Amino acid sequence: MRDVGSQGGGGAAGGAEAGRCGCGGRAVTYLRYSGTHRCGPCLLKSVEERARGELRRQADLAHGTKVAVAVSGGKDSLVALHVVAQAAARRRGVEVLAITVDEGIAGYRPPSVGAAAAAAARLGVEHRVVALGERDRVTVDEIAALEREMAPCSFCGVLRRRLANAEARRWGAHWLATGHNLDDVAQSILLSFVRGDLGKLARLAPHDSAYEGLVPRILPLRSVPEKEVMLYALLRGMPVLAGQCPHMGRAARGSIKEMLLALEDAHPGTRHTVLRAHERLQPLLREGLAPGRSPGRSPGPCPRCGEPSAGGVCQACALLDDVQAGRALRASGL
Ligand code: SF4
Repeated sequence: MRDVGSQGGGGAAGGAEAGRCGCGGRAVTYLRYSGTHRCGPCLLKSVEERARGELRRQADLAHGTKVAVAVSGGKDSLVALHVVAQAAARRRGVEVLAITVDEGIAGYRPPSVGAAAAAAARLGVEHRVVALGERDRVTVDEIAALEREMAPCSFCGVLRRRLANAEARRWGAHWLATGHNLDDVAQSILLSFVRGDLGKLARLAPHDSAYEGLVPRILPLRSVPEKEVMLYALLRGMPVLAGQCPHMGRAARGSIKEMLLALEDAHPGTRHTVLRAHERLQPLLREGLAPGRSPGRSPGPCPRCGEPSAGGVCQACALLDDVQAGRALRASGL
């Protein structure tokens, strides 16, 4: 297999074809942040070791533990499901459930729901699909068509998290794993800084505890760069769907992603540094923003839907109000 590109890892100085892995095998990639070449088998082993390490640090997978995995059907979530199922198979009495939220994005979501179902079946894991259109009577395509000021992703992420959490809780999950990789996590941290959202920085997963009703989220791939997750998926023969969400371009995350890739190119290792800095900062933020220290915000059930909220009406209900306002405006012809 050829190197999949220089993003965060390759480059002229480190072409994979020119290099040999530490084991002597032919390299499939070069990782600039660590200055190492990796062959296929060593890359697979290294990704699994990092994922297992993260699982050990983030979750207690004792006998009787139930782990739900949010599986969109994209490469990251398929790899997350694989490593969680693999970890569960090494233990006794750990159950796994795959949950897919269908946000209602025509042409994009249906193939990935199929990929999620196939992956779960291959691993012998139960798979459930929950549709936004059925539960919240709205689809992301409709939200995008309303052309509100906020990008559809702001709605999609919040509504999807609420649905996945509710389904995981209904099943009795102790943990909810997601497929966020190092690039995603570093982007979320920087995005929260750019928005000055200290509460979000404090709440970002992984969670060692969560308030009532919220299944603590864990991120087994959070220290694995996106490129390595992609290679892992390809080397394991997982389907890597080519389609891109049609609403992607409107996300603020896109500009953060570009900035982060430029930084990684100029200063290899930037994503790891951002993650480590946040790990050190987060306990201080959680302590500083704990209930009683931040007036007017105490976690509890949303007074409207009963789902967990960081304080008062939850973000999902507030966003659904915005959708209703958009529908009313559209109906009035203004
Ligand atoms: Fe949802 Fe945005 Fe992702 Fe599309 S790109 S699936 S709208 S979060």
